[in-house]
Amino acid sequence: MDELQQCDVLVIGGGPGGATMSTLLARQGRRVVMLEKDQHPRFHIGESLLPGNGELFDLLGVREQVDRIGMPKYGIEFVPPDLPYTSKVEFGDGLDPDKGLAWQVRRSDLDELLFRHAQKEGALAIEGAQVREVEFDAEGATVRAVMKDGSRSAWRTRFVVDASGRDTLLANKLKSKQKNPRHNSTAIFGHFRNARRLEGRDEGHITICWFEHGWFWFIPLADGATSVGAVCWSYYLKSRDKPMKDFFFDTIAMAPELQDRLKDAELIGDEVHATGNFSYASTHATGERYLMVGDAFTFIDPMFSTGVYLAMLSAQKGADVVATALDRPGELPAARARYERLMREVPKKYSWFIYRVTNPTIRDMFMHPRNIFNIKRGLLSLLAADLAPKRGFRRSVLMFKVVYYFISVTNWRRTYAGWKRRAFNIQDHGPLRGETVHKT
Ligand SMILES: Cc1cc2nc3c(=O)[nH]c(=O)nc-3n(C[C@H](O)[C@H](O)[C@H](O)COP(=O)(O)OP(=O)(O)OC[C@H]3O[C@@H](n4cnc5c(N)ncnc54)[C@H](O)[C@@H]3O)c2cc1C
Repeated sequence: MDELQQCDVLVIGGGPGGATMSTLLARQGRRVVMLEKDQHPRFHIGESLLPGNGELFDLLGVREQVDRIGMPKYGIEFVPPDLPYTSKVEFGDGLDPDKGLAWQVRRSDLDELLFRHAQKEGALAIEGAQVREVEFDAEGATVRAVMKDGSRSAWRTRFVVDASGRDTLLANKLKSKQKNPRHNSTAIFGHFRNARRLEGRDEGHITICWFEHGWFWFIPLADGATSVGAVCWSYYLKSRDKPMKDFFFDTIAMAPELQDRLKDAELIGDEVHATGNFSYASTHATGERYLMVGDAFTFIDPMFSTGVYLAMLSAQKGADVVATALDRPGELPAARARYERLMREVPKKYSWFIYRVTNPTIRDMFMHPRNIFNIKRGLLSLLAADLAPKRGFRRSVLMFKVVYYFISVTNWRRTYAGWKRRAFNIQDHGPLRGETVHKT
């Protein structure tokens, strides 16, 4: 038998979700242990943040440190496949002009910063510790991990937080993970030196470039590198019949504006990553002695750069649920119900747009954002992850949808063709061919 060490809460995974949770629980005076299988700094994709992250950085007390590692990001540039011009929007034109600034970051830097911060706040955060088993019983759980050197450790805990990201440790164990039947996308990406960026204040904008099989991100980082990735339907990545790097460059060639911005650029490290379908959710996010945060519960699509925000937000709200479970168990059912609602409702605000974003009607609306019925300002607040109840927010998002449906009906032939195309695109075309697929 391994010797059992004791803690109040054991957090599995030391990404943004796990680190936020650990900081907040340590501040409550809990004995928190966070186990991370990797060693920080480690590579992770997901480099574009939102103004909404700012409040969470303030809560943790790390905004200045993020300012130091991040590239200021004020907005988004949209590049259509079929028009000779691009469109730019700024978050500051949303309903709250103070929510105008976000960041592009190297995730190795951000995640290490948040992890070390949790340690400073009192969490026992251990790297190179992969959780292999979680056994629940009436009083709590026993968690067993394998350390980098092959040794084993075992923990007795009153509560478990699963922040294991797309490894979805608990959802796999509980068999509660389900593919998203309404979405199916894959990604292929790399980093470039010397890409041609926008100038001045716009330099840190994320650029979204649509192309025939999906869309590209173009994310300028503070150290001069630019992250470029294609989010494409799985049939497209499945069709690859050449080395990944050649396939990536052929894909870039389908977006002439992007290709032009990369014409003098060089792929850093000659490295191209690919990742298979990543759209899923667990049937539930909580139990009597556990909860899931961030990607451990759900991930839909990176289109609106919401992943890190949702991971940190769920950790913030989840920390209250953990406190309830430990201190006031009689109130736990109501706290769990609120958390379950939050974990469904916030992603849903984005999924309506994600499911439609490659269709021509939405593309037109993003390319020519007009402020009738305040829809531009409401949309920008949504894109900024400024979701606090605000006068006119719900109404303007609702009006966006009304206008969308109106345009769709008046262009019914185009709408029908788009719908048919999407029905094909979201089919599962099986796993990607093995050796080139990296977990991210
Ligand atoms: C192609 C792509 C592009 C993306 N782009 C963006 C973007 O631009 N902006 C954005 O905000 N989001 C983006 N995302 C999403 C974003 O990466 C995630 O939503 C975010 O990292 C979730 O944070 P998390 O803390 O839940 O999980 P993670 O950041 O994945 O952290 C989980 C941690 O758990 C550790 N772990 C896993 N299993 C175990 C175990 N058994 N034991 C111990 N440790 C374990 C992992 O090593 C990892 O460090 C993108 C995602 C993809 C796939």
